[in-house]
Amino acid sequence: MGPLNYLDIDRLSLVPEKYWSLHEFCFYLHDSLMEAASTYELSGSHLVIEDIVQEIITEHHPNIEEFDLIELLKDNELDEAYRQHIVGHTVLALLSDMHQFLYSSLEAFERRKFSVGFSLLRKVLKEHLVFLCWIVADETDFINRFEGDVYKTLNNLSKEKRIEIFDTSIEWIELTNMFDSNVLWSYIFDKNFSGGFEPVWQMATHLVTSQGIIKTKRYSLNFAFEDRSDDYYFELLYEKLPYLLIFLVQVAMKSLSKTCEVDKKVVGRFIISTVGVYEALCLTGKSHIAVLLRTFFKDFLHCMFCGEKIRLTKKKRPRLFVSQLIECQHCRVDNQFPLDWLMSKANLVVKENGDIDTLITSKPRIA
Ligand SMILES: [Zn+2]
Repeated sequence: MGPLNYLDIDRLSLVPEKYWSLHEFCFYLHDSLMEAASTYELSGSHLVIEDIVQEIITEHHPNIEEFDLIELLKDNELDEAYRQHIVGHTVLALLSDMHQFLYSSLEAFERRKFSVGFSLLRKVLKEHLVFLCWIVADETDFINRFEGDVYKTLNNLSKEKRIEIFDTSIEWIELTNMFDSNVLWSYIFDKNFSGGFEPVWQMATHLVTSQGIIKTKRYSLNFAFEDRSDDYYFELLYEKLPYLLIFLVQVAMKSLSKTCEVDKKVVGRFIISTVGVYEALCLTGKSHIAVLLRTFFKDFLHCMFCGEKIRLTKKKRPRLFVSQLIECQHCRVDNQFPLDWLMSKANLVVKENGDIDTLITSKPRIA
């Protein structure tokens, strides 16, 4: 599959062509998440609490010069405001820190700096993701532990606790049916699973490792003697990373919605796009999203240059979702196709059980 035209083609020169679209899809997921976080931050939802605090100070402590915001909220029994303050600021801080690691990791893979890429990715999936899941799954438990000795209470989690956190957070996100807590754990934490990330993270972080399947061999040092032209690590990376990033984005968006209203239709369209790309790039068999697209948009799928009908093949769908472009198979010219706008007209939504459906039964018409 060719490029999705999401990233500049020059940036893909060191990535094998068969992974171009997956690499671009991962950047698309990263960028979409950061855009959502930025929108949330600009809305000022996490700062609403400051108005409440100002009112309290004006009314009860007009002469106070310095105060501890958290103590003030607790002393005045403003439980909801306290929760909102802790969750809002913690989620934004986690996303901001995560952004730097994830972006730099993807960029390192782009330059075939495998050990750097994996080292940076480790924190994103083993730590940022787990904390965001925790806030989504049980924010009261998270806040209670956050108030305590964090080095003990939020550290050294057991396998059972991590799986419980994954399990509960899956129940809260839209695509519940797509994820399994044991699969997530094995991809991220299982040191004996050669297809997972934990063994390679250990090797990327340490020159010498001594346990299980990652014992460093004689006359060797982990990654130091690695042939950077070998594509093995791209294969390992892109077999699992899209699935994990879709989960991460889902959880992060749900954590943002904990303290502010989100437009469910906008989130719904993003989820549909995400699943549409994932189905086309990573799965075999019938695509539910492809059927929906053909049902609702086939009347619009005519080339604006030669007038011929454009076939919406599996190969064309990812580029349509990510870059809103589709090539005509007759004249070979790219058509701009406003899929997001058309989806909004069709009122496509993600239902409570994770199924994707439409609120209307007729096809969209241009008003
Ligand atoms: Zn054409």
